[in-house]
Amino acid sequence: MIKCPRCKQLIDLHSSKCSKCGLKTTQILLASNKEAVKVLKTRRKNENAHIKHIKQIVKPLDEQIKETKKLYKFAENEKEKNALAYKLNDLRIERHNTIAKINRENYEAIYFTTLIPSDISRKKLILYVCLLGCFGAHAFYVGRMWRGIIITALWCVFLIGFFYFQYFTINNEFLVYLFGDIYTMSGAVAVILVVNDLIRILLNKYKIPVKIPPEK
Ligand SMILES: [Zn+2]
Repeated sequence: MIKCPRCKQLIDLHSSKCSKCGLKTTQILLASNKEAVKVLKTRRKNENAHIKHIKQIVKPLDEQIKETKKLYKFAENEKEKNALAYKLNDLRIERHNTIAKINRENYEAIYFTTLIPSDISRKKLILYVCLLGCFGAHAFYVGRMWRGIIITALWCVFLIGFFYFQYFTINNEFLVYLFGDIYTMSGAVAVILVVNDLIRILLNKYKIPVKIPPEK
């Protein structure tokens, strides 16, 4: 049994496609992490331009929403108020759908799945999390950059604090308490995150971004 990366339905490996969303089993088995990482990278690079583009397109809708809100505030009777509330709701739905459509058109879909794609080695993943987990190696390996950066940053705060206290003395007792707590907490959170990831990897519950190849 495998889990469909698109709709999370359980699929028998012998069946040809997902019974819920119709994704072909061959497509699922060819899902690629390396391709997903490429897409995520370009996404990050174009993020600002993309947000600007969306803002531009929904601008007239935003203005209408603003205008309707104003009218609603000064509406004189219930009937008018109701009509405006409906209009406001419709406008909001339209705004939401417009943004979803732009995203669909501009972005290739990336799914976070617990199914380990063929271009990721589970052994490597375990090795990375055990040896270099505190520097987010396992997260960087599958392209989960933010998780990797957060773990590394927390761990670095711990290391800096630890070595500082080893070699220097701070004469102010309050500062000693404050920094002592910050760096130990930072280290503890990093370790918790890494252990959590290790358990997830061992239980096949670690989420890995994948791109699903087009249907042939
Ligand atoms: Zn499915």
